[in-house]
Amino acid sequence: MSGSAARLQAIEAVTNYQPISEPLSFSKVPANEIFGTNVFGRAAMKARLPKPVYQSLIATINHGAALDPSIADTVASAMKEWAIEKGATHYAHVFYPLTGTTAEKHDSFLSPDGEGGAIAEFAGKTLIQGEPDASSFPNGGIRATFEARGYTAWDVTSPAYILENPNGTTLCIPTAFVSWTGEALDKKTPLLRSSQAMNKHAQRVLKIFGHKDIATVYSFAGAEQEYFLVDRHFYFSRLDLLGCGRTLFGAAPPKGQEFEDHYFGAIPERVLAFMLETERELFKLGIPVKTRHNEVAPGQFEVAPVFESSNLATDHQQLIMVTLKKVAERYGMACLLHEKPFAGVNGSGKHVNFSIGNTTQGNLLDPGDTPHANAQFLVFCAAVIRAVHKHGGLLRAVVASAANDHRLGANEAPPAIISIFLGEQLADVFEQIAKGGATTSKVKGKLEIGVDTLPHLPKDAGDRNRTSPFAFTGNRFEFRAVGSSQSIAGPMVAINTILAESLDYVATELEKLGAGDPAKLNAAVQKLVADILEKHGSVIFNGDGYSEAWHREAEKRGLPNLRTSVDALPVLESPDVVAMFDKYSVLSSRELQSRMEVYLEQYCLTIGLEARTAIEMAKTVVFPAAVRYQGQLAQTCANLKAIGYTFDTDTLDKVTALVKQLQDGIANLEKSLAHKNGGSKLGHAKDLCDSVLPAMAAVRAAADDLESIVADDLWPLATYQEMLFIK
Ligand code: ADP
Ligand code: MG
Repeated sequence: MSGSAARLQAIEAVTNYQPISEPLSFSKVPANEIFGTNVFGRAAMKARLPKPVYQSLIATINHGAALDPSIADTVASAMKEWAIEKGATHYAHVFYPLTGTTAEKHDSFLSPDGEGGAIAEFAGKTLIQGEPDASSFPNGGIRATFEARGYTAWDVTSPAYILENPNGTTLCIPTAFVSWTGEALDKKTPLLRSSQAMNKHAQRVLKIFGHKDIATVYSFAGAEQEYFLVDRHFYFSRLDLLGCGRTLFGAAPPKGQEFEDHYFGAIPERVLAFMLETERELFKLGIPVKTRHNEVAPGQFEVAPVFESSNLATDHQQLIMVTLKKVAERYGMACLLHEKPFAGVNGSGKHVNFSIGNTTQGNLLDPGDTPHANAQFLVFCAAVIRAVHKHGGLLRAVVASAANDHRLGANEAPPAIISIFLGEQLADVFEQIAKGGATTSKVKGKLEIGVDTLPHLPKDAGDRNRTSPFAFTGNRFEFRAVGSSQSIAGPMVAINTILAESLDYVATELEKLGAGDPAKLNAAVQKLVADILEKHGSVIFNGDGYSEAWHREAEKRGLPNLRTSVDALPVLESPDVVAMFDKYSVLSSRELQSRMEVYLEQYCLTIGLEARTAIEMAKTVVFPAAVRYQGQLAQTCANLKAIGYTFDTDTLDKVTALVKQLQDGIANLEKSLAHKNGGSKLGHAKDLCDSVLPAMAAVRAAADDLESIVADDLWPLATYQEMLFIK
C-alpha cells in the first residue's frame, strides 16, 4: 500500500467511527459508591486489621512514625484476602524509575503446596521488600551492571490498589526503589526524603509563631494534566507519532487555534465518553479528578485532580497518565502526552499547584484574614521567594527534557527564565515591607509587617498571569514550567528541598532576632522579610513574561535564562545545589550525579531517535511523494511541448528546488548525526542540540513546503488539519 493510500484509509476509517454502543455501567452507579473501591485505603484497613495494627499503620502514615515491621505479616495477609476477593491472582511492586515512567514487577500469589496443589501466599516480608532485577533501569553509573540487585521497599503512605484487566486483576503496591547499597534509583525515594526535610524546618518556624500543637507539615500538589487526543488510525499511520510521540513533519493547518473556538468549547461526544470512563477508572483508584475541559489547541484537553499530599499526588499523577492512555485506546484514540506533538500548535504542560500545610495550622500559604496569620504567611511566602531566587536554575533543570525544550520559551508556555508572579496586591504589600524603615514614619502603624493592609486581601489576591512560570494564585503557587509527560516527583523534590533550605534559614534568622519572645516577633518578622526582599526581590516579576523587554530586564537582574536542557542540566552538578541536597539528606552527590547522567542520556536517546525517524520518513515517505509529483509535472510539461504548447514550469521548478533542498537536508542531518564529540555525555548532548536539531528542522522545512505544493492525493502523511479536527 502506498503511503498516500494509508493516509486516505485512515481518514476513511476515522470518519466511519462507530461509538461504543454498550452503555456505561458508570451511569447507573453513583460516583461516590465507586470512589476508592479498588484501594486498600483507610476504610479497608480499618475493617480488616486488628485495631492496634491499624493504629500503628496510621501513625506511620499520619505522623511519619517508623514502620513497625512486626505488623507486616498481619497487613500482608489482610491485603491478600482483600485483593483475592477482588479477583487478584498476582501482586506487583510498583516503582518509579528515573525514566519518569511507572514500572511493575508481577508475581503470582500462588505457590506449590508440595502435594500437587497450590496455596495463595503473601508474607509480610514480601510486602515490605521486593527484589526486581535493577540492571535494565537507568542508574547513571550508581551500580555496575554485574551488581544487578535493586530493592523495592513498601511505601506505607501510598495505598495499595487493584489494577483491573478484562482477564484478571493485580494487587499493586507502591514502593521506593533503591540499590543494594541503599542509594536511590527512583523518583519516590528523594521525594519522601525531601518531605521530611521540609517538615523539620517548617516545624521550627511554626514554633517561633507560638504554636504548640503542630502536626507533620506536608507539601500538597494538584497537577493539571494537558493532553492531546488523535484518532488511532492517524496515530498508526505516522511513524513519528508511533515512535516519538510527536510529529516530526507537518505544515501549519489553514485553520489553527487562532479562532480560539476550542478552548472551553463543547466537548465532542467521543471525547466526553472517553473522559467519563477515564474518570470512572480513576475514581475506583481513589483519585479525585475534578475538572475537565478543552484546552487552547484543537484536539487538546485537560484533567485535574483535587490536590493531595505530594507523595500521593505523584503516584496518582502516574496512574492518571497510564489511565488516559489505556482508556483512549478503548475509544479508538491515542492520547498524546508529549509536550509538543504539533509544531506551531500550543504544547501541553502540567501545571503543578502546590502549597504546604498540616492539619493543625492549615494551609501555610493562605494569606488568611487575621494579622497574626498574615505575618506567618508573609514569612512562609518570603521563604518561597528566597528559595526560588536562589534556585531558579535548579527549578529549570528539574523540568529539562528534549520534549519540554520545545515548549519553554515558545510564547505559549512560561519562558525558561524562572521568576515569581505575586499579583499586584501582594507585590504591593511586600514592596511596602521592603521600604519599611523609610515609610513607616509616614503611615505609622500601617506598615508594621504590613498587617493593616492585609485583612483586606481578598482570597484571590493573585490575578492570573499566564506568562509566569511560578505564580501565586490566592493560596498556593503554581509551577507552570513542568511538562505534560513528566513525573511531578522531580519538581516536588526540588520545591521541598529549596523550601527546607529556606525555612531553615528563616527559622535560624528569626531565632537570632529573638523572635521566640512574642514582644519581639513583629519587629523580627519585619526585619527578616525586608531583608529577604532586598536580597531576593529581583525574582518577582508581574509583567509579561513573553516580552523581549523582560528577557533584557531579567538579564540585568542576573536571573538565569537556561534555554535548553543542555544549558539547564549541568545545574545539578553546581556546588551549591550539590551541597544543599547533601545537607538536607535528599540526594548524595553520587545520587545527584547519577541523575544528571540519566537525564542527559534520555536527552540523547530522544533526539537520536527523532533524527533517525526523521531521516527514514524523509527518505521513504516524503521524498517518493515529491518525486512522483515532480515526475507527473515533468511528464505533462513534455507532453504539452510535444504538441506545441508552452507550459509554465513555475511549479515544477519549485518542486525541483524543494526536492534538492530535501536531499541536501537529509545528507546534512545524516552527517551531523554521525559526528561524535569527544565521548562525554554532555558533549554529545551539546552536539545534538547545536547541530542535529537545526539539521532536523531544515529537513522538516523542505518537507513542509512540499506538503503545501504536492498534489493532495499523492501526499502520504496525515495532515495537521486532519489529525486535529477530524473526530
Ligand atoms: P486553573 O486551571 O484555574 O489553574 P484548575 O481547577 O484546573 O485551576 O486546577 C487547579 C489545581 O490546583 C487543582 O488540582 C486543585 O486541586 C489545586 N489546588 C487548589 N488549592 C490548592 C492548594 N491549596 N494546594 C495545592 N493545590 C491546590
Ligand atoms: Mg487549569
